Amino acid sequence: MGRSAFITGISGQDGAYLAAFLLDKGYEVHGGIRSVAHSGLERLEFLGLRDRIRLHPFDLADHNNIFRVLREVSVDEVYNLAAQSFVGASWDNAIQALDIHAMGTARLLDTLRTLGGDTRIFQASSSEIFGTARTCPQTELTALAPRAPYGTGKVMAHCLVENYRTRFGMHASCGILYNHESPLRGRQFVTRKITLALARIAAGAPEICRLGNLSARRDWGYAPEYVEGMWRMLQQDQPEDFILATGIGTTVRDFATHAAAALGIEIDWEGSGAGEVGRRRSDGRIIVAVDPEFYRPAEAVDLIGDAAKARDRLGWSAQTDVATLAALMARAEAAVPGCALW
Ligand code: GDP
Repeated sequence: MGRSAFITGISGQDGAYLAAFLLDKGYEVHGGIRSVAHSGLERLEFLGLRDRIRLHPFDLADHNNIFRVLREVSVDEVYNLAAQSFVGASWDNAIQALDIHAMGTARLLDTLRTLGGDTRIFQASSSEIFGTARTCPQTELTALAPRAPYGTGKVMAHCLVENYRTRFGMHASCGILYNHESPLRGRQFVTRKITLALARIAAGAPEICRLGNLSARRDWGYAPEYVEGMWRMLQQDQPEDFILATGIGTTVRDFATHAAAALGIEIDWEGSGAGEVGRRRSDGRIIVAVDPEFYRPAEAVDLIGDAAKARDRLGWSAQTDVATLAALMARAEAAVPGCALW
């Protein structure tokens, strides 16, 4: 009999790519969405998956609902990808971020424990659990030190997975995911914000791409590769936690330079801090500027992951470098009239 999986957060970037990956492997794929009436299924539709998966009304805040759905579907694997994924927004609604990330994971783990069986669970942990780390790159042994409600909730979930694994012998694993991007990324994330704006500028819009800290450095990988890493974790005999990362940090400024180059635009950077701008070399027009509105209240240190354990044990390593990633995102944007996939 074929295998089956349930994905929380199936309408997001990772949920959509994971659904595609599992369907290709012959899985029966179920997904939880907060409301079937409320669409939000653009990514699944874009990948042509909408009619190939079974959707269930699902709310990580509702223990009874989680229990009912998971008892009914009785799957081999659960992937907990639901999150209030924008770190910045977790400051606007800290209680909700904690409830979804921490308590939501607790409800899920406890439901699977109560149901018994041998369902395996993957928890999407995050580099944000190391938000104020003192060492770089981080490994699975780096001390947990979140600096925003987003990461604080993810830390609790991370610890709970370890608790349930140890106490009840559950096959539960955390993937500590560093930033991973794609054309399916939400447009509030800086990579998508840059590629969207630059594609419109390349098409002739008189726009300026306004960004926050241009020197912020992130470890950006390509999302479809990360969902394969998640799956590989659940195929291990023993559950364990793994970092998935490229190991290479790139500044926001350099990401913009790469994305622009793919669209035939060269950028000259001048000035510093809030006064820094990026000018299009061909005509000197300012196309990127700093707007302190987009500064973070508490910026993480350099979040760069060492994925050696995943390489050695899972045979997983990131394949797409940041220049290629920026280029494929920029070109995907430019291929859509009006440059707005979602
Ligand atoms: P995050 O790492 O999950 O918070 O992903 P983001 O894409 O939101 O942010 C990545 C980095 O880009 C952070 O260090 C931000 O401070 C930095 N950044 C600089 N300008 C911007 C901006 O205009 N929007 C966002 N979202 N981030 C920005």
